Amino acid sequence: MIYQPQQYAIADERMKPFIDEQEIQRFLENTHPTKERVREVIAKSLDKNRLSLEETAVLINATDPELIEEIKQGAKTLKEKVYGKRIVLFAPLYVGNFCTNNCKYCGFRTTNRKQVRTTLSDEQLVKEVEALEENGQKRLILVYGEHPKYNAEFIANSVRTVYKVKKGNGEIRRVNINAAPMEIDDFRTVHEAGIGTYQIFQETYHHETYQSVHLAGKKADYNYRLTALDRAQEAGIDDVGIGALFGLYDWRFELLALIRHVNHFEACYNVGPHTISFPRIKDASEFAIVDKWRVSDGDFTRLVAILRLAVPYTGLILTAREPMEIRSEIMSFGVSQIDGGTKIEMGAYSKKEDNQDLDKEQFKINDNRSLGDIIDELLDKDYLPSFCTACYRAGRTGEHFMEFSVPGFIKKYCTPNAMLTLAEYLEDYATLDVKAKGERVIAKNLAEMEEGMIKQSLIERLDKVKAGERDLYF
Ligand code: SAM
Ligand code: SF4
Repeated sequence: MIYQPQQYAIADERMKPFIDEQEIQRFLENTHPTKERVREVIAKSLDKNRLSLEETAVLINATDPELIEEIKQGAKTLKEKVYGKRIVLFAPLYVGNFCTNNCKYCGFRTTNRKQVRTTLSDEQLVKEVEALEENGQKRLILVYGEHPKYNAEFIANSVRTVYKVKKGNGEIRRVNINAAPMEIDDFRTVHEAGIGTYQIFQETYHHETYQSVHLAGKKADYNYRLTALDRAQEAGIDDVGIGALFGLYDWRFELLALIRHVNHFEACYNVGPHTISFPRIKDASEFAIVDKWRVSDGDFTRLVAILRLAVPYTGLILTAREPMEIRSEIMSFGVSQIDGGTKIEMGAYSKKEDNQDLDKEQFKINDNRSLGDIIDELLDKDYLPSFCTACYRAGRTGEHFMEFSVPGFIKKYCTPNAMLTLAEYLEDYATLDVKAKGERVIAKNLAEMEEGMIKQSLIERLDKVKAGERDLYF
Protein backbone atom coordinates (compact mmCIF):
# COMPACT_ATOMS: atom_id res chain seq x y z
CA MET A 1 0.00 0.00 0.00
CA ILE A 2 1.25 3.50 -0.81
CA TYR A 3 0.81 5.96 2.02
CA GLN A 4 -0.92 9.22 1.24
CA PRO A 5 0.84 12.37 2.44
CA GLN A 6 -2.24 13.70 4.22
CA GLN A 7 -1.99 10.78 6.63
CA TYR A 8 1.08 12.31 8.19
CA ALA A 9 1.59 15.16 10.53
CA ILE A 10 2.68 17.79 8.05
CA ALA A 11 3.63 20.63 10.33
CA ASP A 12 3.92 23.43 7.78
CA GLU A 13 5.34 24.56 4.47
CA ARG A 14 8.74 23.14 5.32
CA MET A 15 7.47 19.59 5.05
CA LYS A 16 6.32 19.96 1.47
CA PRO A 17 8.28 18.03 -1.12
CA PHE A 18 10.88 20.29 -2.68
CA ILE A 19 12.51 18.30 -5.48
CA ASP A 20 11.56 19.78 -8.84
CA GLU A 21 12.87 17.40 -11.47
CA GLN A 22 12.42 19.82 -14.31
CA GLU A 23 14.47 22.46 -12.54
CA ILE A 24 17.30 19.95 -12.08
CA GLN A 25 17.07 18.77 -15.70
CA ARG A 26 17.17 22.37 -16.91
CA PHE A 27 20.44 23.00 -15.10
CA LEU A 28 21.91 19.81 -16.51
CA GLU A 29 20.80 20.50 -20.06
CA ASN A 30 21.43 24.22 -20.29
CA THR A 31 24.81 24.58 -18.65
CA HIS A 32 27.66 24.57 -21.17
CA PRO A 33 30.88 25.29 -19.32
CA THR A 34 33.92 27.00 -20.77
CA LYS A 35 37.35 26.41 -19.25
CA GLU A 36 37.27 29.86 -17.71
CA ARG A 37 33.89 29.27 -16.12
CA VAL A 38 34.96 25.91 -14.62
CA ARG A 39 38.05 27.53 -13.15
CA GLU A 40 35.99 30.41 -11.77
CA VAL A 41 33.66 27.95 -10.04
CA ILE A 42 36.55 25.95 -8.54
CA ALA A 43 38.08 29.20 -7.31
CA LYS A 44 34.78 30.22 -5.71
CA SER A 45 34.71 26.99 -3.73
CA LEU A 46 38.36 27.31 -2.73
CA ASP A 47 37.45 30.74 -1.46
CA LYS A 48 35.20 28.95 1.02
CA ASN A 49 31.85 29.49 -0.68
CA ARG A 50 29.29 26.80 -1.32
CA LEU A 51 28.18 26.43 -4.92
CA SER A 52 24.75 27.05 -6.43
CA LEU A 53 22.89 24.46 -8.50
CA GLU A 54 24.03 26.19 -11.68
CA GLU A 55 27.66 26.23 -10.56
CA THR A 56 27.52 22.57 -9.56
CA ALA A 57 26.08 21.80 -13.01
CA VAL A 58 29.06 23.62 -14.53
CA LEU A 59 31.39 21.15 -12.80
CA ILE A 60 29.19 18.17 -13.69
CA ASN A 61 29.16 19.14 -17.37
CA ALA A 62 32.91 19.69 -17.55
CA THR A 63 33.99 16.57 -19.44
CA ASP A 64 37.39 17.66 -20.75
CA PRO A 65 39.96 15.38 -18.98
CA GLU A 66 42.10 18.40 -18.17
CA LEU A 67 39.19 20.09 -16.40
CA ILE A 68 38.21 16.90 -14.59
CA GLU A 69 41.76 16.75 -13.29
CA GLU A 70 41.51 20.37 -12.16
CA ILE A 71 38.26 19.60 -10.32
CA LYS A 72 39.91 16.69 -8.51
CA GLN A 73 42.92 18.84 -7.75
CA GLY A 74 40.57 21.54 -6.43
CA ALA A 75 38.94 19.05 -4.05
CA LYS A 76 42.38 17.98 -2.81
CA THR A 77 43.46 21.57 -2.28
CA LEU A 78 40.26 22.32 -0.37
CA LYS A 79 40.85 19.35 1.88
CA GLU A 80 44.44 20.31 2.59
CA LYS A 81 43.63 23.98 3.06
CA VAL A 82 40.64 23.51 5.35
CA TYR A 83 40.48 20.10 6.94
CA GLY A 84 44.06 18.87 7.16
CA LYS A 85 44.88 15.23 7.67
CA ARG A 86 42.16 14.02 10.03
CA ILE A 87 39.94 11.06 9.14
CA VAL A 88 37.24 10.03 11.61
CA LEU A 89 36.63 6.30 11.99
CA PHE A 90 33.40 4.46 12.77
CA ALA A 91 31.77 1.06 12.34
CA PRO A 92 28.29 0.02 11.24
CA LEU A 93 26.36 -2.38 13.48
CA TYR A 94 23.40 -4.14 11.90
CA VAL A 95 20.73 -4.83 14.52
CA GLY A 96 18.10 -6.62 12.43
CA ASN A 97 17.27 -7.50 8.83
CA PHE A 98 13.51 -8.05 8.95
CA CYS A 99 11.96 -5.78 6.38
CA THR A 100 8.49 -5.14 5.02
CA ASN A 101 9.71 -3.12 2.05
CA ASN A 102 10.61 -4.41 -1.35
CA CYS A 103 13.59 -2.42 -2.55
CA LYS A 104 14.83 -4.20 -5.65
CA TYR A 105 18.51 -3.62 -4.91
CA CYS A 106 18.59 -4.77 -1.29
CA GLY A 107 19.25 -8.24 0.10
CA PHE A 108 16.80 -7.54 2.95
CA ARG A 109 13.79 -6.94 0.68
CA THR A 110 10.69 -8.75 1.78
CA THR A 111 10.42 -10.94 -1.33
CA ASN A 112 13.94 -12.32 -0.93
CA ARG A 113 13.10 -15.74 0.51
CA LYS A 114 16.77 -16.67 0.66
CA GLN A 115 17.57 -14.01 3.24
CA VAL A 116 18.01 -15.48 6.71
CA ARG A 117 16.25 -13.07 9.09
CA THR A 118 17.65 -12.21 12.50
CA THR A 119 17.21 -9.55 15.13
CA LEU A 120 19.93 -9.24 17.75
CA SER A 121 18.65 -9.75 21.29
CA ASP A 122 19.91 -7.32 23.93
CA GLU A 123 22.47 -9.95 25.00
CA GLN A 124 23.69 -10.44 21.44
CA LEU A 125 23.83 -6.69 20.94
CA VAL A 126 25.99 -6.35 24.04
CA LYS A 127 28.34 -9.05 22.74
CA GLU A 128 28.68 -7.25 19.42
CA VAL A 129 29.45 -3.97 21.13
CA GLU A 130 31.99 -5.62 23.42
CA ALA A 131 33.74 -7.07 20.37
CA LEU A 132 33.74 -3.65 18.70
CA GLU A 133 35.08 -1.99 21.84
CA GLU A 134 37.82 -4.62 22.08
CA ASN A 135 38.94 -3.47 18.65
CA GLY A 136 39.03 0.16 19.72
CA GLN A 137 35.83 1.48 18.13
CA LYS A 138 34.24 4.54 19.75
CA ARG A 139 31.62 5.55 17.18
CA LEU A 140 28.91 3.33 15.75
CA ILE A 141 26.05 3.59 13.34
CA LEU A 142 23.22 1.19 14.18
CA VAL A 143 21.36 -0.07 11.11
CA TYR A 144 17.86 -1.59 10.97
CA GLY A 145 15.56 -2.96 8.28
CA GLU A 146 12.12 -1.39 8.14
CA HIS A 147 9.71 -3.50 10.13
CA PRO A 148 7.11 -2.93 12.88
CA LYS A 149 9.51 -4.79 15.21
CA TYR A 150 11.96 -1.92 14.86
CA ASN A 151 9.74 0.82 16.19
CA ALA A 152 11.04 3.94 17.91
CA GLU A 153 11.01 2.34 21.35
CA PHE A 154 12.99 -0.66 20.05
CA ILE A 155 15.53 1.62 18.41
CA ALA A 156 15.81 3.83 21.51
CA ASN A 157 16.33 0.74 23.66
CA SER A 158 19.13 -0.52 21.43
CA VAL A 159 20.82 2.88 21.51
CA ARG A 160 20.67 2.99 25.31
CA THR A 161 21.94 -0.59 25.52
CA VAL A 162 24.96 0.26 23.37
CA TYR A 163 25.90 3.29 25.46
CA LYS A 164 25.89 1.17 28.63
CA VAL A 165 28.44 -1.38 27.40
CA LYS A 166 31.92 -0.80 28.84
CA LYS A 167 34.59 -3.37 28.08
CA GLY A 168 38.01 -2.67 29.59
CA ASN A 169 38.83 0.91 28.66
CA GLY A 170 36.32 0.67 25.84
CA GLU A 171 33.08 2.54 25.45
CA ILE A 172 30.93 3.77 22.59
CA ARG A 173 30.75 7.53 22.80
CA ARG A 174 28.54 8.28 19.85
CA VAL A 175 25.71 6.17 18.47
CA ASN A 176 24.28 7.26 15.13
CA ILE A 177 21.37 5.48 13.50
CA ASN A 178 20.24 4.61 9.97
CA ALA A 179 16.60 3.64 10.18
CA ALA A 180 13.26 4.01 8.45
CA PRO A 181 11.49 7.40 8.47
CA MET A 182 9.27 8.08 11.47
CA GLU A 183 6.62 10.40 12.78
CA ILE A 184 7.68 13.40 14.84
CA ASP A 185 6.87 11.82 18.22
CA ASP A 186 8.86 8.74 17.33
CA PHE A 187 11.81 10.87 16.34
CA ARG A 188 11.55 12.49 19.78
CA THR A 189 11.80 9.06 21.38
CA VAL A 190 15.04 8.19 19.56
CA HIS A 191 16.39 11.70 20.12
CA GLU A 192 15.91 11.31 23.86
CA ALA A 193 17.91 8.07 23.78
CA GLY A 194 20.90 10.22 22.82
CA ILE A 195 21.51 9.46 19.14
CA GLY A 196 24.23 11.42 17.39
CA THR A 197 23.21 11.63 13.72
CA TYR A 198 19.97 10.36 12.20
CA GLN A 199 20.85 9.16 8.73
CA ILE A 200 18.53 8.27 5.88
CA PHE A 201 19.16 8.11 2.14
CA GLN A 202 16.60 9.07 -0.46
CA GLU A 203 18.23 6.38 -2.66
CA THR A 204 17.10 8.13 -5.86
CA TYR A 205 15.59 11.59 -6.15
CA HIS A 206 14.14 10.70 -9.56
CA HIS A 207 10.44 9.94 -9.04
CA GLU A 208 9.90 7.42 -11.80
CA THR A 209 13.01 5.47 -10.91
CA TYR A 210 12.07 5.65 -7.24
CA GLN A 211 8.71 4.03 -7.95
CA SER A 212 10.29 1.39 -10.17
CA VAL A 213 12.72 0.14 -7.52
CA HIS A 214 10.62 0.53 -4.36
CA LEU A 215 7.92 -1.91 -5.14
CA ALA A 216 6.03 -2.30 -1.88
CA GLY A 217 5.82 -1.22 1.73
CA LYS A 218 6.03 2.22 3.30
CA LYS A 219 9.20 3.02 1.44
CA ALA A 220 7.24 3.14 -1.82
CA ASP A 221 6.13 6.62 -0.69
CA TYR A 222 8.77 8.99 -2.09
CA ASN A 223 7.51 12.07 -0.28
CA TYR A 224 7.26 10.49 3.13
CA ARG A 225 10.90 9.53 2.85
CA LEU A 226 11.95 12.88 1.42
CA THR A 227 10.41 14.79 4.32
CA ALA A 228 11.72 12.44 7.04
CA LEU A 229 14.53 14.75 7.97
CA ASP A 230 12.16 17.68 8.28
CA ARG A 231 10.16 15.71 10.84
CA ALA A 232 13.43 14.81 12.56
CA GLN A 233 14.29 18.52 12.79
CA GLU A 234 10.86 19.20 14.18
CA ALA A 235 11.59 16.63 16.89
CA GLY A 236 14.84 18.37 17.79
CA ILE A 237 17.25 16.17 15.83
CA ASP A 238 19.36 18.80 14.14
CA ASP A 239 22.19 16.47 13.23
CA VAL A 240 21.10 14.58 10.13
CA GLY A 241 22.74 12.73 7.25
CA ILE A 242 21.44 12.55 3.69
CA GLY A 243 22.53 10.35 0.80
CA ALA A 244 21.76 8.83 -2.57
CA LEU A 245 22.40 5.31 -3.76
CA PHE A 246 24.45 5.78 -6.90
CA GLY A 247 23.66 3.39 -9.75
CA LEU A 248 19.87 3.56 -9.73
CA TYR A 249 19.67 6.58 -12.03
CA ASP A 250 21.91 9.17 -13.73
CA TRP A 251 24.59 10.23 -11.21
CA ARG A 252 24.51 13.78 -12.54
CA PHE A 253 20.85 14.14 -11.61
CA GLU A 254 21.34 12.57 -8.17
CA LEU A 255 24.28 14.82 -7.42
CA LEU A 256 22.34 18.01 -8.23
CA ALA A 257 19.35 16.71 -6.28
CA LEU A 258 21.58 16.18 -3.23
CA ILE A 259 22.66 19.80 -3.51
CA ARG A 260 19.01 20.81 -3.80
CA HIS A 261 18.33 18.87 -0.59
CA VAL A 262 21.14 20.78 1.12
CA ASN A 263 19.62 24.07 -0.11
CA HIS A 264 16.28 23.07 1.37
CA PHE A 265 17.93 22.51 4.73
CA GLU A 266 19.79 25.75 4.68
CA ALA A 267 16.72 27.71 3.65
CA CYS A 268 14.49 26.13 6.31
CA TYR A 269 16.79 25.49 9.25
CA ASN A 270 19.77 27.74 8.64
CA VAL A 271 22.09 24.76 8.73
CA GLY A 272 22.88 22.11 6.15
CA PRO A 273 22.88 18.37 6.82
CA HIS A 274 25.74 17.13 8.97
CA THR A 275 26.88 14.55 6.44
CA ILE A 276 26.30 13.32 2.91
CA SER A 277 26.76 9.67 1.92
CA PHE A 278 27.18 8.47 -1.64
CA PRO A 279 27.02 4.66 -1.54
CA ARG A 280 27.53 3.00 -4.90
CA ILE A 281 25.24 0.06 -5.52
CA LYS A 282 26.81 -3.38 -5.00
CA ASP A 283 25.71 -6.94 -5.63
CA ALA A 284 23.36 -8.35 -3.06
CA SER A 285 21.58 -11.62 -2.35
CA GLU A 286 19.49 -12.43 -5.45
CA PHE A 287 20.37 -9.09 -7.01
CA ALA A 288 22.88 -8.10 -9.66
CA ILE A 289 23.63 -4.53 -10.65
CA VAL A 290 21.78 -3.18 -13.67
CA ASP A 291 24.26 -1.86 -16.18
CA LYS A 292 22.33 1.12 -17.46
CA TRP A 293 23.16 3.50 -14.63
CA ARG A 294 26.25 1.78 -13.30
CA VAL A 295 28.70 4.47 -12.16
CA SER A 296 32.23 3.78 -13.39
CA ASP A 297 35.19 4.28 -11.05
CA GLY A 298 36.18 7.35 -13.08
CA ASP A 299 32.75 8.97 -12.76
CA PHE A 300 32.52 7.98 -9.11
CA THR A 301 35.76 9.67 -8.09
CA ARG A 302 34.78 12.65 -10.20
CA LEU A 303 31.37 12.99 -8.58
CA VAL A 304 32.85 12.91 -5.08
CA ALA A 305 35.33 15.65 -6.02
CA ILE A 306 32.44 17.77 -7.36
CA LEU A 307 30.43 17.15 -4.19
CA ARG A 308 33.37 18.26 -2.05
CA LEU A 309 33.64 21.53 -3.96
CA ALA A 310 29.87 22.11 -4.06
CA VAL A 311 29.31 21.82 -0.29
CA PRO A 312 32.71 22.53 1.17
CA TYR A 313 31.51 22.47 4.78
CA THR A 314 29.51 19.25 4.88
CA GLY A 315 30.95 16.00 6.22
CA LEU A 316 31.41 13.30 3.58
CA ILE A 317 31.13 9.61 4.46
CA LEU A 318 32.82 6.88 2.42
CA THR A 319 32.11 3.25 3.30
CA ALA A 320 33.61 -0.19 2.88
CA ARG A 321 31.30 -0.82 -0.06
CA GLU A 322 34.24 0.57 -2.04
CA PRO A 323 37.54 -1.27 -2.50
CA MET A 324 40.72 -0.05 -0.86
CA GLU A 325 42.15 1.65 -3.98
CA ILE A 326 39.04 3.74 -4.60
CA ARG A 327 38.83 4.58 -0.89
CA SER A 328 42.43 5.76 -0.92
CA GLU A 329 41.91 8.05 -3.90
CA ILE A 330 38.63 9.51 -2.67
CA MET A 331 39.94 10.11 0.83
CA SER A 332 42.30 12.68 -0.58
CA PHE A 333 39.31 14.71 -1.84
CA GLY A 334 38.17 15.59 1.62
CA VAL A 335 36.19 12.67 2.95
CA SER A 336 35.71 13.22 6.67
CA GLN A 337 34.61 9.77 7.87
CA ILE A 338 35.27 6.18 6.85
CA ASP A 339 34.29 2.89 8.44
CA GLY A 340 36.94 0.39 9.46
CA GLY A 341 36.87 -3.27 10.43
CA THR A 342 33.39 -3.41 8.90
CA LYS A 343 31.18 -6.50 9.18
CA ILE A 344 27.56 -6.30 8.17
CA GLU A 345 26.24 -9.73 9.08
CA MET A 346 24.30 -9.67 12.33
CA GLY A 347 26.46 -11.16 15.06
CA ALA A 348 29.65 -11.22 12.95
CA TYR A 349 31.77 -8.97 15.18
CA SER A 350 31.55 -11.29 18.18
CA LYS A 351 31.82 -14.43 16.06
CA LYS A 352 34.86 -12.91 14.37
CA GLU A 353 33.54 -14.05 11.01
CA ASP A 354 35.45 -12.77 8.04
CA ASN A 355 33.66 -14.24 5.06
CA GLN A 356 30.48 -12.70 3.79
CA ASP A 357 27.36 -14.78 3.32
CA LEU A 358 25.17 -12.56 1.17
CA ASP A 359 22.04 -14.44 2.24
CA LYS A 360 22.57 -13.06 5.73
CA GLU A 361 23.63 -9.56 4.72
CA GLN A 362 22.47 -6.51 2.87
CA PHE A 363 25.08 -6.24 0.10
CA LYS A 364 28.65 -7.09 -0.75
CA ILE A 365 31.41 -5.04 0.83
CA ASN A 366 34.76 -4.61 -0.87
CA ASP A 367 37.07 -3.45 1.88
CA ASN A 368 37.09 -6.00 4.68
CA ARG A 369 40.35 -4.98 6.31
CA SER A 370 40.48 -4.86 10.09
CA LEU A 371 40.37 -1.53 11.90
CA GLY A 372 44.03 -2.04 12.82
CA ASP A 373 45.02 -2.51 9.16
CA ILE A 374 43.11 0.58 8.10
CA ILE A 375 44.73 2.67 10.82
CA ASP A 376 48.10 1.29 9.77
CA GLU A 377 47.50 2.43 6.19
CA LEU A 378 46.21 5.84 7.26
CA LEU A 379 49.31 6.41 9.37
CA ASP A 380 51.58 5.31 6.51
CA LYS A 381 49.91 7.97 4.38
CA ASP A 382 50.37 10.57 7.07
CA TYR A 383 46.67 10.84 7.94
CA LEU A 384 45.60 11.46 11.51
CA PRO A 385 42.99 8.80 12.40
CA SER A 386 40.47 10.19 14.88
CA PHE A 387 37.75 8.75 17.11
CA CYS A 388 36.71 12.19 18.29
CA THR A 389 33.18 12.64 19.64
CA ALA A 390 33.86 15.87 21.53
CA CYS A 391 31.53 18.31 19.76
CA TYR A 392 28.49 16.14 20.09
CA ARG A 393 29.17 15.54 23.77
CA ALA A 394 30.04 19.15 24.52
CA GLY A 395 26.82 20.30 22.82
CA ARG A 396 28.65 21.87 19.89
CA THR A 397 26.28 20.78 17.11
CA GLY A 398 26.99 21.73 13.52
CA GLU A 399 30.64 20.88 13.97
CA HIS A 400 31.39 20.41 10.27
CA PHE A 401 30.17 23.90 9.65
CA MET A 402 32.22 25.24 12.54
CA GLU A 403 35.33 23.42 11.39
CA PHE A 404 34.96 25.18 8.12
CA SER A 405 33.84 28.62 9.10
CA VAL A 406 35.05 29.41 12.61
CA PRO A 407 38.65 30.61 12.39
CA GLY A 408 40.96 28.44 14.47
CA PHE A 409 38.28 25.83 15.28
CA ILE A 410 40.23 22.93 13.82
CA LYS A 411 43.44 23.97 15.57
CA LYS A 412 41.66 24.49 18.88
CA TYR A 413 39.43 21.42 18.94
CA CYS A 414 39.61 18.95 16.07
CA THR A 415 43.34 18.31 15.70
CA PRO A 416 44.05 18.09 19.47
CA ASN A 417 41.05 15.80 19.97
CA ALA A 418 42.12 13.62 17.05
CA MET A 419 45.55 13.26 18.67
CA LEU A 420 44.08 12.44 22.08
CA THR A 421 41.74 9.78 20.72
CA LEU A 422 44.49 8.30 18.55
CA ALA A 423 46.79 8.23 21.61
CA GLU A 424 44.13 6.27 23.53
CA TYR A 425 43.81 3.83 20.65
CA LEU A 426 47.58 3.35 20.50
CA GLU A 427 47.80 2.67 24.23
CA ASP A 428 44.87 0.27 24.40
CA TYR A 429 44.55 -1.56 21.10
CA ALA A 430 47.43 -1.09 18.65
CA THR A 431 50.19 -3.54 17.76
CA LEU A 432 53.70 -2.37 18.67
CA ASP A 433 54.41 -1.50 15.08
CA VAL A 434 51.25 0.60 14.65
CA LYS A 435 51.87 2.21 18.04
CA ALA A 436 55.32 3.35 16.94
CA LYS A 437 53.93 4.76 13.68
CA GLY A 438 51.08 6.48 15.49
CA GLU A 439 53.39 8.09 18.00
CA ARG A 440 55.49 9.45 15.15
CA VAL A 441 52.37 10.94 13.52
CA ILE A 442 51.29 12.52 16.82
CA ALA A 443 54.79 13.94 17.36
CA LYS A 444 54.79 15.37 13.83
CA ASN A 445 51.40 17.02 14.34
CA LEU A 446 52.52 18.40 17.69
CA ALA A 447 55.67 19.84 16.12
CA GLU A 448 53.49 21.63 13.54
CA MET A 449 51.32 23.28 16.22
CA GLU A 450 51.84 26.87 17.25
CA GLU A 451 53.38 27.32 20.68
CA GLY A 452 50.84 28.42 23.24
CA MET A 453 48.28 27.34 25.79
CA ILE A 454 46.48 24.82 23.62
CA LYS A 455 49.68 23.01 22.74
CA GLN A 456 50.82 23.03 26.36
CA SER A 457 47.52 21.70 27.58
CA LEU A 458 47.50 19.05 24.85
CA ILE A 459 50.98 17.83 25.84
CA GLU A 460 49.80 17.52 29.44
CA ARG A 461 46.73 15.57 28.38
CA LEU A 462 48.73 13.27 26.12
CA ASP A 463 50.92 12.48 29.14
CA LYS A 464 47.81 11.74 31.17
CA VAL A 465 46.59 9.33 28.47
CA LYS A 466 49.92 7.53 28.69
CA ALA A 467 49.45 7.37 32.45
CA GLY A 468 46.06 5.68 32.01
CA GLU A 469 43.49 8.52 32.00
CA ARG A 470 40.86 8.29 29.27
CA ASP A 471 38.28 10.43 27.51
CA LEU A 472 40.11 13.73 27.72
CA TYR A 473 38.96 16.26 25.16
CA PHE A 474 38.79 19.94 24.33
N1 SAM B 1 15.89 0.11 6.08
C1 SAM B 1 16.56 1.35 6.20
C2 SAM B 1 16.28 2.18 4.99
O1 SAM B 1 15.96 1.66 3.94
O2 SAM B 1 16.45 3.39 5.12
C3 SAM B 1 18.02 1.09 6.37
C4 SAM B 1 18.73 1.27 5.16
S1 SAM B 1 19.99 0.24 4.70
C5 SAM B 1 20.15 -0.83 5.96
C6 SAM B 1 21.26 1.44 4.47
C7 SAM B 1 21.46 1.84 3.04
O3 SAM B 1 22.14 0.82 2.34
C8 SAM B 1 20.24 2.06 2.20
O4 SAM B 1 19.66 3.31 2.45
C9 SAM B 1 20.78 1.95 0.80
O5 SAM B 1 21.20 3.20 0.30
C10 SAM B 1 22.01 1.09 0.97
N2 SAM B 1 21.91 -0.14 0.19
C11 SAM B 1 20.87 -0.99 0.09
N3 SAM B 1 21.14 -1.95 -0.80
C12 SAM B 1 22.39 -1.72 -1.28
C13 SAM B 1 23.23 -2.37 -2.25
N4 SAM B 1 22.83 -3.43 -2.92
N5 SAM B 1 24.46 -1.85 -2.46
C14 SAM B 1 24.88 -0.77 -1.79
N6 SAM B 1 24.13 -0.10 -0.88
C15 SAM B 1 22.89 -0.57 -0.63
FE1 SF4 C 1 14.35 -2.80 3.71
FE2 SF4 C 1 16.02 -0.70 3.78
FE3 SF4 C 1 16.60 -2.91 2.41
FE4 SF4 C 1 14.69 -1.39 1.54
S1 SF4 C 1 16.88 -0.80 1.74
S2 SF4 C 1 14.58 -3.62 1.67
S3 SF4 C 1 13.86 -0.66 3.43
S4 SF4 C 1 16.42 -2.71 4.59
